[in-house]
Amino acid sequence: MTDFLSLDVVDGVATLRLDDRDAPVNTVSPGWLAAMTTAFERIKADPAVTGVIVSSGKPDFMAGADLKFILSHAAAMTPADAYGFSQQATALHRLVETCGKPVVAAIGGFALGGGFELALACTHRIVADSRKAVVGLPEVNVGLLPGSGGTQRLPRMIGVAKALEVLLEGRNYAPAEALAAGLVDAVVPPDQLMAAAHAWLAGAPDPTRPWDRKGFAIPESDGLLKQSTAGLFTQLSGQLLARYGRNYPAPIAILTCVFEGVQTPFETGLRIESRHFARLLTDPVSRNIIRTTFVNKGLAEKGARRPPGHEQATVRKLGVLGAGMMGAGIAFVAAKAGIETILLDTSQELAEKGKAHSARILAREVERGRTTREAADAILARITPTTDYGDLAGAGLVIEAVFEDATVKAGVTAKAAAAIAPDALFASNTSTLPISLLAKSFPRPADFIGLHFFSPVDRMALVEVIMGQDTSQAALARALDFVTQIRKTPIVVNDSRGFYTSRVFQTFIHEGMELLREGVSPALIENAAKLAGMPVGPLAVTDEVTLELPMKIVREAEAQDPAFRRPTSMEVMETMVEGLGRAGRKAGAGFYDYPADGPKRLWKGLAKHFPPADEQPDVQEIKTRILYIQALETARCLEEGVLTHPADGDLGAVLGWGFPTLGRRDAVPDRYRGRRRLRRRMRPAGATPWRPLRPHGPTPGDGR
Ligand code: NAD
Repeated sequence: MTDFLSLDVVDGVATLRLDDRDAPVNTVSPGWLAAMTTAFERIKADPAVTGVIVSSGKPDFMAGADLKFILSHAAAMTPADAYGFSQQATALHRLVETCGKPVVAAIGGFALGGGFELALACTHRIVADSRKAVVGLPEVNVGLLPGSGGTQRLPRMIGVAKALEVLLEGRNYAPAEALAAGLVDAVVPPDQLMAAAHAWLAGAPDPTRPWDRKGFAIPESDGLLKQSTAGLFTQLSGQLLARYGRNYPAPIAILTCVFEGVQTPFETGLRIESRHFARLLTDPVSRNIIRTTFVNKGLAEKGARRPPGHEQATVRKLGVLGAGMMGAGIAFVAAKAGIETILLDTSQELAEKGKAHSARILAREVERGRTTREAADAILARITPTTDYGDLAGAGLVIEAVFEDATVKAGVTAKAAAAIAPDALFASNTSTLPISLLAKSFPRPADFIGLHFFSPVDRMALVEVIMGQDTSQAALARALDFVTQIRKTPIVVNDSRGFYTSRVFQTFIHEGMELLREGVSPALIENAAKLAGMPVGPLAVTDEVTLELPMKIVREAEAQDPAFRRPTSMEVMETMVEGLGRAGRKAGAGFYDYPADGPKRLWKGLAKHFPPADEQPDVQEIKTRILYIQALETARCLEEGVLTHPADGDLGAVLGWGFPTLGRRDAVPDRYRGRRRLRRRMRPAGATPWRPLRPHGPTPGDGR
């Protein structure tokens, strides 16, 4: 028994139980590697051992690398250190498969990443038929690749095409699907897992892996890759470059490892893999992705910003004012989380229409087998559409999502305040109006807070929690508890015009329009933004939110603040909306044309009204301007105390409006290299998660 595992030998069968004493799940760490290596050297040397079962002393088999360990150590690692780390794990897995004894992995819970790589290094894999026993190689999602042989074993086991799908998509496989894909060899009832492992060993199977037999070749190769398979790599590299530019090195590195690895001896393939792994591990991209999408996201969801000393609160009944796009979405996520929800609008018909939004989503989920009719009906039954403020009685929280108009909001706030308990919390989903101003319509401003959801609410994880001038810490704690209850990710910001996400998002679209005004070709603007990693170009997204919205925001700011500096992009918006009647997609025309019979196209007339300069700037300059305008505004938000923690800036940027990772050194032009401190603060690290090679999911929110 060590801190990481136990080893027992009974009747010639060695049973190795993975069991990290200090952690809820088993992970790959230097200590684990050392303990495993010692155990397998003993197994190899002991003639009494005729077979090995690798199982787990915990409900799950094993997760991958300890990402927190990686995050804290990777920055200081040289590529040589990282190569050594990968080779150490590779050597262990090689020892497992060359120890001369058959080794069976008995997988009772999830086996992911490095955990599944260990299973791949075993001679045979048996998985329990349980919903929790999923297998997969999700490394690509955190900007890495399976670095202990996964990219080499898998194509040799299941073929190149299938292996590439598993490695590039990085998703989990349930037992039946894993069996069909060849990722595991058998699926058995959970209570028969160990018996099945013993039974397999009883057949005295040959422990030699196929690639260690003389003359082994993968079916897709006759020395060199056959043309059809080689063509797949060309096609995939084109697709990956088209979708991600050069912003996400991991998918291309995986492709390279498989391409080069399957055309070389196995051991050479393992060294190629370690080299690429070392490059990814020492590159800021993966660190930034891990920091934001794994570590900081997890911490935010566990209440990193929750003030201490307040009792945990649970909302049992919620009131939602306004059953439009946002109100209907909020009602859905709340009802789904088991909360009784009152959905109020000006007419019963509008309130019912809001509830119908949930019915539509649930019908789709039932159709796709993601939920049952009964469960869907139970969620729907929790939503009560109404026009009667009396129905709000007993609500622990009311969220206002009526029109973006301070007077309308003041009216509904006062009516709700009269109907609810004197200790109920009140929140506004406003996207632009100051929380401190709206709080004036509520008799208890200390219990008034901003809860800024993103559209579509059911798919966007982020909630921007906004503190007004008088919002109490107790109200913040209760609001964060509610966000946890509905399983969303919160960031906490202080009141400011546009708060944080809308404010920075505005700089992105204004910069796009300013570039147009300066004579940069619209196609260059749109393509440079996408090459920089933004999900959509600034002109396209402005069309989506309508040009009228940023115009309105500028005019309101001018009216409220004499010191406000009018952005020069206003000229573009005024020409487009007031001069040309092209207000965006909703109006049928904006920076793009929207023909009924085909895809949208950039409007040719832009050249007449915003003539392109004879000499166009370099694409890198446009990429830099688009990214830095957002990073600078984020830095200002930190400086002004709108953001209280850089982690919130990263999470808001990545989850709120799809800001890409800015870890690549080549995204930082030379003239910025000296400003290291500024760069560190500005870098909105994190990443748009890798999306598999399927049609795009929802477009990240419009940032409003
Ligand atoms: P919407 O126009 O779709 O819905 C507003 C709803 O409020 C309508 O159903 C309307 O009938 C109802 N309403 C208006 N006056 C009312 C009153 N006096 N009493 C009761 N109901 C009333 O608008 P939306 O897009 O859902 O936006 C709602 C709020 O959310 C706004 O403050 C907006 O700024 C904010 N917001 C919108 C988005 C977005 O992407 N649309 C994102 C974040 C926040």
